[in-house]
Amino acid sequence: MSAAILDGKALANALVAELAGRVERAKARGVTPCLAVVLVGDDPASQVYVRAKEKRAAEAGIAARDHRLPASTSTGALLELVAELNADPSVHGILVQLPLPKGIDEQRVLQAVAPHKDVDGFHPDNLGLLMLGRPRFVACTPQGCMRLIAAAGVDPSGMDALIVGRSNIVGKPMAQLLLQANATVTIAHSKTRDLEGLVRRSDLVVAALGRPEQLRGAWIREGACVIDVGINRLPNGKLVGDVEYGPAAERAAAITPVPGGVGPMTIACLLANVVDAAEAL
Ligand code: NAP
Repeated sequence: MSAAILDGKALANALVAELAGRVERAKARGVTPCLAVVLVGDDPASQVYVRAKEKRAAEAGIAARDHRLPASTSTGALLELVAELNADPSVHGILVQLPLPKGIDEQRVLQAVAPHKDVDGFHPDNLGLLMLGRPRFVACTPQGCMRLIAAAGVDPSGMDALIVGRSNIVGKPMAQLLLQANATVTIAHSKTRDLEGLVRRSDLVVAALGRPEQLRGAWIREGACVIDVGINRLPNGKLVGDVEYGPAAERAAAITPVPGGVGPMTIACLLANVVDAAEAL
């Protein structure tokens, strides 16, 4: 079998084009969807992500407002900025780029973002609503994975789905989404005893462990759907996912490449959440 390659770039382009139409209509009503981006410190990877998000926002016609603060910023000063953005009616979505520098209380900051502007979906209210099966803002990476699965024509209902990784931003919300889609969900993590065995019997695998090519291609069940969230840079500069792509693609029915799979969808889903937030007014 040779897998269908799930082209996240093309799917993200289609989503951004659809959003651009909705933004036009919002503007005609006098509302310009606006994303406030808060970047603290000078982490180079975060700077790249923020630039990419702002560029994509511009393509959709979404206004992006940039707030750059030095790494020495205190939790209190950051909370003040978040409070200002919460109160500003022209801001529809607030993104606090993670990770925050050491010394800033990340959970306090994420909880301070007004839930109806929490376009990252990290606020406890939004995570709680997801858990209750009444999602409002769904975290962007898992949302992007679900859109890729749907675009592949895969219905998770009744499938044995495995998520490798249990972070609050990827693994846990992903598990809730697949549960809601009626999959039988297993979550693996670093203490899991038989990862290979679990992968071998799964119809759907979401890899989000952040370990280059740790899931071997030979483990993938014939005909499985493989969503690779991992982004790992090898010493030679090459970007690879958490799945050994070549041999996995020979066994899977559908697979996301790295790069060009989940990554572009994450940004497009952030923008979808901003447009949803602006339309909810
Ligand atoms: P994270 O917070 O570091 O979590 C990694 C998870 O993987 C943890 O739950 C950890 O288990 C588990 N894990 C680590 N080693 C393992 C092993 N050998 N076997 C089984 N489980 C293992 O990472 P994250 O933020 O969720 O991100 C995961 C990956 O996705 C990273 O490569 C990241 O760069 C990428 N990512 C991509 C996007 C995108 O848009 N494409 C977005 C977000 C993240 P414990 O809980 O037991 O420690």
